[in-house]
Amino acid sequence: MKAMVLHEPGKPFELEDRAIPRAENNEAVAKVLACGSGLTIQHTVAGRIQSNFPIVIGHEITAEITEIGLGVDNLKVGDPVTAFYYLTCGDCKWCRINRETLCDSQGQVGRHIDGGYAEYIKLPARNFIKLPKNLDYIKNPAEIGVITDAIATPYKVIRHAQILPMENVAIIGAGGGLGVHMVMVTLWAGAIVTAVDISSDKLKKCDELGAHFLINPNEVNLYESLMDSSNGKGMDVIVDYACTSSTIESGIQSLGKGGRFLPMAGTSSATFEFNPKEMLKDERKIMGSRYCTKQDVIDSLELVARGEVWPIVTEKYSLEDADKVHDRLEKGLVTGRAAIVI
Ligand SMILES: [Zn+2]
Repeated sequence: MKAMVLHEPGKPFELEDRAIPRAENNEAVAKVLACGSGLTIQHTVAGRIQSNFPIVIGHEITAEITEIGLGVDNLKVGDPVTAFYYLTCGDCKWCRINRETLCDSQGQVGRHIDGGYAEYIKLPARNFIKLPKNLDYIKNPAEIGVITDAIATPYKVIRHAQILPMENVAIIGAGGGLGVHMVMVTLWAGAIVTAVDISSDKLKKCDELGAHFLINPNEVNLYESLMDSSNGKGMDVIVDYACTSSTIESGIQSLGKGGRFLPMAGTSSATFEFNPKEMLKDERKIMGSRYCTKQDVIDSLELVARGEVWPIVTEKYSLEDADKVHDRLEKGLVTGRAAIVI
């Protein structure tokens, strides 16, 4: 089979001819139809997060099961599937209370074991999630593949931060791959959405999606604009995909009573200051939200199948063009998601 392999960070992919993996006990193998290309996996390419090299990256897959190992009873050959990104033990406290991304012995698909930039993928059977019947994965393999992260991660934020209808929610970095989907899912949840981005093109996309307010912090004061768009009351929720010291500080400062701030940039180590007195007085929260649960992926697939939301894939490439798409991801040129179609 063809596989695009990364041998070390910062180096081009190498197209290799490998044996099709065989399913061992409690594993399954699937033929990959498409695999999303997001910023998370670009962090592995660029070496910003630790990964096991050589590695086949990619986890946002649309695939069909071709082989199951002994002990697998949740899948059969021919099942259309996507993948859950985290490798978990299924048995620790965090797995048991449906907070799988906090698992005590976690790994990730495409980072610690080989992922979807190949013609076939082998995973623990419980990492494959069956697609609902009414999702046309043959016609839209790229769009269906990205649901497992691009829709499911924002969907989890809605649940985790308990975003309610008519709450004022600001999304900073709203034009990025996860940002536009956060805008989409937050609108679906009935909130009043303020999109913040420094790219006017990307703000235009948020406008098309229906965001109620648009803010470009290069042109106006972020804190004052956030206060304005919440009628001076302060934001109920801020989801920050940029996480610079200044977006975090302006964000926390502009929270209203009961406000929640979610820093969502996985590689930011920006430091910031906040006023404890204000936090106490208004019962504000700063809270992390890490990927999603398997149930969030299942719910997100259902959400798309019901026609409530539709993932935005603006660029599609062949496996051989992986370097091209990752160059564009690194430069921040991709709107929504890009995907490899195999
Ligand atoms: Zn666990």
